Amino acid sequence: MEHNESSTYLVKRMLEHIGEDANREGLRETPQRVVKAWGEWFSGYGQDPAEVLKVFEDGSENYDQMVLVSNIPVYSKCEHHCADIFGLAHVAYIPNGKIVGLSKANRVVDIFARRLQVQERLTANIADAINDNLTPLGVGVVLQCRHMCMESRGVNTRGTVTTTSAMRGVFLEDAAAKSELLRLIDGARNGISI
Ligand code: ZN
Repeated sequence: MEHNESSTYLVKRMLEHIGEDANREGLRETPQRVVKAWGEWFSGYGQDPAEVLKVFEDGSENYDQMVLVSNIPVYSKCEHHCADIFGLAHVAYIPNGKIVGLSKANRVVDIFARRLQVQERLTANIADAINDNLTPLGVGVVLQCRHMCMESRGVNTRGTVTTTSAMRGVFLEDAAAKSELLRLIDGARNGISI
């Protein structure tokens, strides 16, 4: 509780810093709301991807082709400004005897996105978590994101999309596997805007 009180105090100070009257009606509950919202936006710190990536045993262990989960929503914050980073993640792996439930890709993206990040590290975090926990034949992760610290301030580059990728195993070593993955992502992305 004490911890929460000092956090709400800091939000109140920030409101005053921007020239607001932190005691006016509309802002009275804002510090508590901001602290609560941060709890959700940064809920990734309290979560372990290894827990989420527990292996799924349902008889599909012999499946050895690519699994691609596309257009996973990304909601993150940049570690330089705490500004929004949002967009899409595409997560692929080629199983090596271990598969997980399809929704686990979304969970892993969320665990790392809901921390202070740079897009490059976020992409690598997702790929490494899958690589370390499933030891698949290959992992490919592509992120397409917009950065509010670039778009709404500084250079003001509205609508700019930053693409990053992290390839492991087959997707790193085999150019044909990588280009097949990128072609499938492109197809799945068709018409979906960020
Ligand atoms: Zn930033």
